[in-house]
Amino acid sequence: MSQLRRGFKTWCENAAASYRRDLGLDRAAPLDPLVLARHLNIVVWAPGDIPGMKKDVLTHLTMSDPDSWDAVTIQSDGVTAVILNSAPELGRRNNSLAHELSHIILEHEPAHVFHTPDGHMMMNEYNAVHEEEANCLAGALLLPREALLKAIKAGQGDTALARHFGVSTDLLRMRRNITGINRQLAYSRG
Ligand SMILES: [Zn+2]
Repeated sequence: MSQLRRGFKTWCENAAASYRRDLGLDRAAPLDPLVLARHLNIVVWAPGDIPGMKKDVLTHLTMSDPDSWDAVTIQSDGVTAVILNSAPELGRRNNSLAHELSHIILEHEPAHVFHTPDGHMMMNEYNAVHEEEANCLAGALLLPREALLKAIKAGQGDTALARHFGVSTDLLRMRRNITGINRQLAYSRG
């Protein structure tokens, strides 16, 4: 059961359209979340870029256990930085970054902030509603409903579309579903 408040999905679609406008992009164009991060003054780091990162922590994050995390947002001295795991393929990386940017755009305060056992990296956790909101906005940013519908009607398949928008086919299929596009197309086919 969705916990999103009424009108939130529409708000996300409008936000996705307005960021595209700010960036000089067509409403149906793919949005590179790295470009959006720059526009929002958010620094994006790979683990190796983090100042003062201990070598053993770096090795753990990038070599020993690269599947255990996707992205972390840190805020200190007025600087907001997203540390993005560079190991996963592009679609998952884009989704992780768009998700973190969404928490920042929505001004979510982490429910828990904790440090890794070595005391070095700060991790944050949000509540379930905030997670659902960030997923919703991230999906709309990467795959706006209008752009997706237009591309599907132009006859492109899921794999080609996912590549075009820089997302995973899983996210593409999820968006077809939750935006109601699948239902709309099935209905119009009779
Ligand atoms: Zn989250």
